[in-house]
Amino acid sequence: MKMITKFPKTNSADIARRKQVRDENLERIEKNNEFPVFNFKAFGFRPYFNNNDKINIKGPLCLGSLSKDRQCLAELRGDNAESKKAHCIVCGRTYDLPHGFQEFREIANEAYDGFVNSQAEIITLDVPYEAIKAEDEDETRKIRIKWSQKDGRNQAVIYFINKDDTGGEKAQTFVDMDREEIRHDSSDMHPDKYLVKITAEFKSTNVGIEYKKKEE
Ligand SMILES: [Zn+2]
Repeated sequence: MKMITKFPKTNSADIARRKQVRDENLERIEKNNEFPVFNFKAFGFRPYFNNNDKINIKGPLCLGSLSKDRQCLAELRGDNAESKKAHCIVCGRTYDLPHGFQEFREIANEAYDGFVNSQAEIITLDVPYEAIKAEDEDETRKIRIKWSQKDGRNQAVIYFINKDDTGGEKAQTFVDMDREEIRHDSSDMHPDKYLVKITAEFKSTNVGIEYKKKEE
């Protein structure tokens, strides 16, 4: 009897390719570790990187509890991608899904996208954004408040207008909602010409500025 043993040929190109595949897999595992399971419409979903490094969504996952502090989180199964009947092969629970499997994943993916977008700064390109929100006047003075945006941040602009002044000299104070600060434009009249004190209450801080009274 003659035995022929064949070993797979290995050359340096094969080794390099295998190392590359291995590195890619490790990198994907590393990236996937950053993705938590999220709840959506009473089911679990988990984003992951597919082979093309695009974000896909795994799910729906079983949110049944296995013990006091552990959820099942196994991927639910159904007859086909359109099915709304789901069951868990781990804990045995059965579910009625609000959408078929495929559609449910797509909606969850969009919802996750929206969540990611909501974490980023929002820039408004709508023109005109500025709108007068409040205006008041007496015989000599006028005050006007506008919503505005600067570098993508929300701010209110308060204009102080002296009606007697034919040159239309004005002063303006910027109330920056996002940075929680108050500023004025140095090219305009200084606030101490028309203000003694500003108090602003922001979400997390209160700002109080007192201007020195000018002796005239
Ligand atoms: Zn389960």
